[in-house]
Amino acid sequence: MIDFHAHLDLYPQPGEVVRRCTELGVHVLSVTTTPSAYAGTLALATNAPRIRTALGLHPQIAAERYTELGLFESLLPDARYVGEVGLDGGPEFASTWKRQVEVFDTILSLCAKAGGRVFSVHSRRAATHVLDAIEKHSSAGTPVLHWFSGTKRELARASALGCWFSIGPAMLASSKGRALIASMPLERVLTESDGPFAQMRGRSLWPWDVTSALQPLAELWSTDELDVDRRLKNNLRDLGTLASRL
Ligand code: MN
Repeated sequence: MIDFHAHLDLYPQPGEVVRRCTELGVHVLSVTTTPSAYAGTLALATNAPRIRTALGLHPQIAAERYTELGLFESLLPDARYVGEVGLDGGPEFASTWKRQVEVFDTILSLCAKAGGRVFSVHSRRAATHVLDAIEKHSSAGTPVLHWFSGTKRELARASALGCWFSIGPAMLASSKGRALIASMPLERVLTESDGPFAQMRGRSLWPWDVTSALQPLAELWSTDELDVDRRLKNNLRDLGTLASRL
């Protein structure tokens, strides 16, 4: 099981979630929303080798937390993964757009300077701007677009730029989401929960809920669940190899 984008630190009982992930053998990319949350979130995974912790600064709070960019820079040498970072073009965040662009640009510059990172990216209503930034900072590393919701054209551009994609049960629940997933390069797709933010049937998703993505993925890829599982594991291994080379 692979959950390549979860906010473990934001569950009411993170320690319990980590324990369950360990029991079930879930590989998790544990993303953070602020640099100041990194140390505590990293500590959650001390005895959980399948959990990787990512250093992030979420675009929705970039305006309040841009003062933590210095902390981001000082933590980056030790963080192999970055996320959650990106841009949010929703109307409720319009007033912070300029700051978001500045923060994302700085983060990608820092990643490039550090030799590149695998980074989990938020691109809600901002796919073109996110792709512009990724194109500009081509040595920033390997982007993994999480819960991508752009157009088919933007998706084709993202694929051409070498982006990876993490997709979850919530995305598979919509026909638009499924159509996008069907156009993604199979060898660059991973599953994610985006819990506890992402919800289905009125409750937050758990990292192990990614198993419910296997059957719909099998349908989209005209194969069976076992094969989907095998492909996802291969993809994770490939990305891990990339990350270790960066
Ligand atoms: Mn998220």
